[in-house]
Amino acid sequence: MAKKETQICCFCAGTAAGDMPLVPSPVFEGVYICESCAKQINSLFDQYRSAQPDTQKKNAVKMTDIPKPQEICKFLDNYVIGQEEAKKFLSVAVYNHYKRLSQDTSDDETEIEKSNIILVGPTGTGKTLLARSIAKLLKVPFTIVDATVLTQAGYVGEDIESLLTRLLQAADYDVAAAERGIVFIDEIDKIARKGDNPSITRDVSGEGVQQGLLKLLEGSIVNVPPQGGRKHPEQKMIPVNTKNILFICGGAFEGIERRIAQRLNTHAVGYAQAGRMSKEERENLLHHVAPQDLRAFGLIPEIIGRLPILTNLNPLDRTALRRILTEPKNAIIRQYVKLFKMDKIKLSFTDEALDTIVDKAIEYKLGARGLRSIVETVMIDAMYEAPSSKIKKLSIDKDYVISQLQKANFESISNNIEQE
Ligand code: ADP
Repeated sequence: MAKKETQICCFCAGTAAGDMPLVPSPVFEGVYICESCAKQINSLFDQYRSAQPDTQKKNAVKMTDIPKPQEICKFLDNYVIGQEEAKKFLSVAVYNHYKRLSQDTSDDETEIEKSNIILVGPTGTGKTLLARSIAKLLKVPFTIVDATVLTQAGYVGEDIESLLTRLLQAADYDVAAAERGIVFIDEIDKIARKGDNPSITRDVSGEGVQQGLLKLLEGSIVNVPPQGGRKHPEQKMIPVNTKNILFICGGAFEGIERRIAQRLNTHAVGYAQAGRMSKEERENLLHHVAPQDLRAFGLIPEIIGRLPILTNLNPLDRTALRRILTEPKNAIIRQYVKLFKMDKIKLSFTDEALDTIVDKAIEYKLGARGLRSIVETVMIDAMYEAPSSKIKKLSIDKDYVISQLQKANFESISNNIEQE
């Protein structure tokens, strides 16, 4: 019996991997190509194409297509309550990002440089929400990555370059599109230098990662593993130029208020004495966050220099939490009303009931994230029973909220609700 010929890819000399067969040449017998080489070739063609002056012109964003900062901000208002300053900074930064993409690079007089952004604010105040909301508006690839999974090359965790993998995936592996995208790096504070003396133990998830990140923020050509994770020698890489990628970083920087207060005390310009600061000023120290505070917190100066726009998010007060319940386009209460409407039940909440939900979120220190778990706990029985009943209307009042929370022993459950 004739032995079956082993098919070999004529590009990489590999054989078929997994279930995917090699593709035969329609012209030459015995000539094959594997899936991975075909993909690689495809992306190379994309790069050649995007390097053509014509394509560069075509890819350039037209100024008339760009939403103006005030329009961007108005759009954000649909989803994010308060945080006016952060919205303004973000809107301008995104607008300028578009402008940079539309600039005529043939005129080499003044090149608009990118201004990456860093958002500082307590957890659960809307940093990620801002980033997600802006993504809805954008016509450039966008991704959110968590800085905590990154480690210095060679250590357990993900290589820094893997955050560009996500962007490539968001761009459907269109390298030219990814190179104009936006990356939101969450929890940037978690890669702060761990101590003042980094030589005691290697700081593989702190300063090492910051050094790696610097390369990306600065703008350079980075070899990206197409599937993410760890790089390995046999893996083929996709070169991505980060020069035009906008980076937005967010972090809670817990405890940074202390450093801000210290600085304001020592540099007394404008703040003669800490004692003279009003209560509000003390509570809102974050308003005064400056690059040197990030440095004191453990970010390296080079990183801070590459994140020139620094803005802050405010802690959410009672009024903000109350608005969050009902006002945003996808507000929690609106979602429940919609859920019940699908069962033809008109759901409503009394004002007192909503106030009580907010009071509980504050009492149990759960912030905006807790609102959802509270409403979920209050509504579970109704969601279970109502679809099988004949009711057409359901009004949730204060007593019902309190009794449902008591029944579920919410106070003790709330301790386990992840604050993150
Ligand atoms: P973080 O600042 O930790 O990134 P998130 O943006 O993830 O916080 O907020 C958690 C959740 O809380 C959001 O999904 C949203 O439901 C709600 N939330 C937080 N801040 C706001 C806000 N300013 N406006 C509307 N909803 C908010």
